[in-house]
Amino acid sequence: MNPKTIKSALLKITALVAMTLGPLGAQNAEAAPKKQAGPNGGRLIVAVDPKLEFLVSKDRKVQITALDAEQKPMPLKGYTVSVAAGDRSKPTKLEFTESDGKLVSSGTLPDGNDFPVSVAIKPVSGGKTVYEKFQLNLSNCSSCKYQEYACVCDH
Ligand SMILES: [Zn+2]
Repeated sequence: MNPKTIKSALLKITALVAMTLGPLGAQNAEAAPKKQAGPNGGRLIVAVDPKLEFLVSKDRKVQITALDAEQKPMPLKGYTVSVAAGDRSKPTKLEFTESDGKLVSSGTLPDGNDFPVSVAIKPVSGGKTVYEKFQLNLSNCSSCKYQEYACVCDH
């Protein structure tokens, strides 16, 4: 299969899973707002508009995708993003370049599977920079299908 076919197959599977989980999510929604993962299985950053998906790729790069209201990827315009990862006294700084409508870090994350990250999202227009800080835990969650940093089950 070529990459396009695989992508389209994956999208179909994602849609199917979303439909299957739909009624369950609706039940939980009354108790607490349901946490969502991004369409690629990453962590949603909702502090900015459009919201962003923060995803760690297999080669330990960070990929940032802007999402529209339907969670569909859209070109990211109007922001520059940088990431500081690891030990706060000596963090690894990641800069991003645009690739195929997404931002992809030019460097890779530091070694280890559990460290703090700070994502700086700076409006190009000169507005206030938004900082999104969280623990980047790359272990697989035991209760949902996501990695801990993107976990949606509040276990
Ligand atoms: Zn989970």
